[in-house]
Amino acid sequence: MKLVVVGGGITGLAAAHRAVEVARERQAPLELTLIEARERLGGTIVSERVDGFLVEAGPDSFLSEKPWALALCRRLGVEHRLVRTDDRFRKVFVWHGGRLHPLPDGFQLLAPTAMRPFATSSLFTLRGKLRMALDLVLPRGHADDESLGAFVRRRLGAEALERVAQPLVAGIYTADPDDLSLAATMPRFLDVEKRDRSIILGLRRALAAAPLPGTSGARWSLFVTFAGGMEELVSTLAARLPAGAAVLKQRVSALARTDARWQVRTAEGGTFDADRVILATEAHAAARLTRYLDPGLATLVAEIPYSSAATVSLGYRRADVPHPLDGFGFVVPRTEGKALLAGTFSSVKYPGRAPEGHVLIRGFLGGMLNAEILSEEDGTLVARARGELREALGITAEPVLTRLHRWPASMPQYRVGHLSRVDAIERAVTALPGLTLAGAAYRGVGIADCVHSGEAAAERAFT
Ligand SMILES: Cc1cc2nc3c(=O)[nH]c(=O)nc-3n(C[C@H](O)[C@H](O)[C@H](O)COP(=O)(O)OP(=O)(O)OC[C@H]3O[C@@H](n4cnc5c(N)ncnc54)[C@H](O)[C@@H]3O)c2cc1C
Repeated sequence: MKLVVVGGGITGLAAAHRAVEVARERQAPLELTLIEARERLGGTIVSERVDGFLVEAGPDSFLSEKPWALALCRRLGVEHRLVRTDDRFRKVFVWHGGRLHPLPDGFQLLAPTAMRPFATSSLFTLRGKLRMALDLVLPRGHADDESLGAFVRRRLGAEALERVAQPLVAGIYTADPDDLSLAATMPRFLDVEKRDRSIILGLRRALAAAPLPGTSGARWSLFVTFAGGMEELVSTLAARLPAGAAVLKQRVSALARTDARWQVRTAEGGTFDADRVILATEAHAAARLTRYLDPGLATLVAEIPYSSAATVSLGYRRADVPHPLDGFGFVVPRTEGKALLAGTFSSVKYPGRAPEGHVLIRGFLGGMLNAEILSEEDGTLVARARGELREALGITAEPVLTRLHRWPASMPQYRVGHLSRVDAIERAVTALPGLTLAGAAYRGVGIADCVHSGEAAAERAFT
């Protein structure tokens, strides 16, 4: 079987690797080509070693709760390379009213599960706390999908949305909560409401039944990464592909189907024949490549919006940072009017990110609610990030390391109704036998979801 995978991000790499595994298991012949437009594999996964710092330009970790990435690491024999978060510093701060407030212990993304830390928290007003407690008695909602904003306002009130849900979700999805589909991103909360009515009671019940990873001596923390940075996953996967399978610096520009065969052409003049094609690019690229095959499908795919973001990594001498950095970092509610969406204390969260006597802090900027800021020049973005770190953490010293990375149109947005759109996309693709769409745009944006998506596409290619 001739398989062409288009796109060498984690989805395409996981697809290519799984295809090699399945071919070996079934002793089936496989001729594999993985075509990537850029000069390197990994897509949004980029780790850099600079002056003893380990900088993550894109993702800094993956979720161990979803099994697929961890399972892949086990099969690759690199589980021993994983490092867990230092859970002594599990705390996250919220920037509100000019200072950092700890998110109360037991707060699970949208709602409190531990009553004492919540009741004594300085982050919320008494009125806000009472409104959140109303969740205990409010009736169930009936929507199959609704925006995260509507859900949190309805169950827990505007303050819970503005001070916690919006900034936490912006740090993950870079999304506007009033557009973000709850069913596509956090179906657990809809399920909890269906089952238990109250989110607070439902989360407490779930926690009593199965404590969170990382809280009870579990092998892995909720988020894990590699000792040498996330790019270890990319290089390990790339090394397991057949020699010459990965073709770099070729941008696929056309897909054509004749009889039961596919022809994949690149802008650089390459032509590849295939029995099966996996399109593992961003949705905007997949839409361009499918527009002559099925314009209706291409429109459905093109309508998945993308946001842009940037990360600013700053290294400091530890002595130059007055703040104790006793947490994983902070998030910034939109209502504060800052440039930063979030700041991660990278060298506190994971070992080996900064040389002895130094710390690494990463700011996250942009997203759906603050897209304009990315039109600023690099120097201005760095200055904004530094100015806000001065306000939040009291850092006035010059950084010893400054790295800025931009991620234009890189983060797919799951709007209300996203799952119905993906169902429609998948139905339309079945009319194009041999073609599969995979990646962050469809059924999960995290690395674990992308691994799952790529591997499932590879398995389908063998049916
Ligand atoms: C700043 C940032 C931080 C993040 N943090 C986390 C995190 O901590 N944890 C987590 O789980 N997730 C995180 N994510 C999300 C996660 O990194 C991505 O969703 C995931 O890496 C996407 O992988 P992918 O392979 O689907 O897409 P991509 O990584 O976007 O790869 C797509 C590839 O396709 C290539 N391509 C496009 N068009 C063509 C073409 N025509 N021909 C050939 N090649 C083409 C592109 O060049 C690219 O390499 C983060 C994302 C960003 C941007």
